[in-house]
Amino acid sequence: MKNILKKLSLIKENGLYRDFKYLSSEQSPKVEIEGRETILLGSNNYLGLCSDVRLKEAAINAVKKYGVGSGGSRLTTGSYDLHKKLEEKIADFKGTETCLVFNTGYMANVGIISALCDRKWVIFCDKYNHASIIDGCLLSGARLVRYKHCDMDDLERKIHKYKGSNNLIVTDGVFSMDGDVAPLPDIVKLAKEHGIITMVDDAHGVGVLGENGSGTMSYFKVNGDIDIQMGTLSKAIASVGGYVAGRKDIIDYFKNFSRSFIFSTALPPSSIAVSLKSIEIIENDKDRRKYLIELSNWFKKELQKAGFNITNTITPIIPIIIGNAKKTVELSESLLEEGIYVPAIRPPTVPKGTSRLRISLMATHTYDDLEYVLKILTFHGKRLRIIEG
Ligand SMILES: *Cc1c(COP(=O)(O)O)cnc(C)c1O
Repeated sequence: MKNILKKLSLIKENGLYRDFKYLSSEQSPKVEIEGRETILLGSNNYLGLCSDVRLKEAAINAVKKYGVGSGGSRLTTGSYDLHKKLEEKIADFKGTETCLVFNTGYMANVGIISALCDRKWVIFCDKYNHASIIDGCLLSGARLVRYKHCDMDDLERKIHKYKGSNNLIVTDGVFSMDGDVAPLPDIVKLAKEHGIITMVDDAHGVGVLGENGSGTMSYFKVNGDIDIQMGTLSKAIASVGGYVAGRKDIIDYFKNFSRSFIFSTALPPSSIAVSLKSIEIIENDKDRRKYLIELSNWFKKELQKAGFNITNTITPIIPIIIGNAKKTVELSESLLEEGIYVPAIRPPTVPKGTSRLRISLMATHTYDDLEYVLKILTFHGKRLRIIEG
């Protein structure tokens, strides 16, 4: 007990203590936070679909027909015709044979990796991979070999050094805290040369990149070369859930051996109905995606002009690297006072010394919203000596 209290006070001293901000409106560019209208930057609701009327209707209609709870796990009484439809839809969207829906992306990663791998496996894992991938690897008991972020020379070196008889390379498609994209064609090439299974977590690519918004695999045209395609329904798709898509035999295996899939109550039909409708919207609404990318490119240029240290990416994730955790929190709090909410991202989510404001844009933000943000950000950036001026 003493130990945990000490840990708690330590993170407080170091500006690493985290707490909630309560929203009392929809997840949209302007939200109500603690009674005040605030511009929201940092949401994963990239396409702005969380408040879309068509999705609300889909949920309401499903509630009317199916009720609210699912009542059971997928392999007992909790599978509805909508689950089947969604799994077929995702498989079609991702260009794979079949698909299995999990309750969250986190549960998908943990369930997939721990079912696939055991102590006889070696997993090659990008250093910046999402925590749920790491947890899956740890749970599996496999040997975990982490390679430098997107560094193919390092990956190749480590393959030569550590390769065993069963091997997996796993990477985020789009990295959540940096917004950059994994070099999938190079990963595929290395994997083929060495006979290694590949898995991509496309949580932030879906809806944003690739033909019809189907994600990073499509962006690089490597759909057929990635063995296990994982993703979430909770970000651009604006619902809740996770999935794994791939060959039928592999997916059948997960259906029967993934513990996080088997031992949890199925998602309610209303959430499934939302995901179904959302993917349909994403496939048909190219303009929404195009606007988001144009807006992001414009905003990145403006931030760079103002002197901010940002990573240049092709996604709407725009991290402003500050470095020091306390300073990052200070900037985030100053912005909040001016009616702008951007969460401060600190260790352990990102490496020490790289604390940042993780800006992410929505297709429903306007240029006007962002002009205001730029003005306020520049003012406080100068005040806190983050930028010159
Ligand atoms: C958000 C995220 C997850 C987890 O997905 P949830 O559906 O939110 O549980 C997994 N991987 C990555 C890369 C993510 O960003």
